[in-house]
Amino acid sequence: MKVTQAEIVMSAVKPEQYPTDGFPEFALAGRSNVGKSSFINKMINRKGLARTSSKPGKTQTLNFYKLNETIFFVDVPGYGYAKVSKTEREAWGKMIETYITTREPLRAMLLIIDLRHKPSADDVMMYDFLKHYEIPTIVIATKADKIPKGKWQKHLKVVRDTLDLAKGDEIILFSSETGLGKDQAWNAIQARI
Ligand code: GDP
Repeated sequence: MKVTQAEIVMSAVKPEQYPTDGFPEFALAGRSNVGKSSFINKMINRKGLARTSSKPGKTQTLNFYKLNETIFFVDVPGYGYAKVSKTEREAWGKMIETYITTREPLRAMLLIIDLRHKPSADDVMMYDFLKHYEIPTIVIATKADKIPKGKWQKHLKVVRDTLDLAKGDEIILFSSETGLGKDQAWNAIQARI
């Protein structure tokens, strides 16, 4: 999909604040600093719509991006930032659980992980949580440009094995620097609309 129109329509905490357009939704999650904003910006051809390196600890909201009057990307605040208080962590958990368990237009979660590293305990927890609620998941292994091509398959295997990837879920190699994987990511999204 070539995105020609993209706008943030809502920052929501509660279901009453979610948009009511009814377009299919794809939510994006990942640990802080993994490259989620860069992924969104690359996918929608915008440099700064999704704020890169947005400060952890600020108001935690679900940001709904309406694309081409057709679908929504829902940006979930990053997890795994050590300095977040227990109260904030719990609020985050409640917000994402409510969204995932009640949101009818949700088609899939895009879980952004860093191809260079074995998925963290938080990544595994997030993936298990998604599988518990039977949310189809597309794993985006980003920052692929940071490791040599000859090592990609080895790293992908570590990701696949650590997450214990479920049948029907796929991993897509990605780089926000080079655009690697962009078409494949869009194809995976469109296949689930
Ligand atoms: P977020 O906190 O998950 O939204 O992460 P950001 O998108 O702000 O990215 C964190 C840092 O990683 C920034 O310095 C980005 O420039 C860098 N980054 C993100 N994606 C890539 C990528 O695919 N390749 C490289 N080399 N750097 C990336």
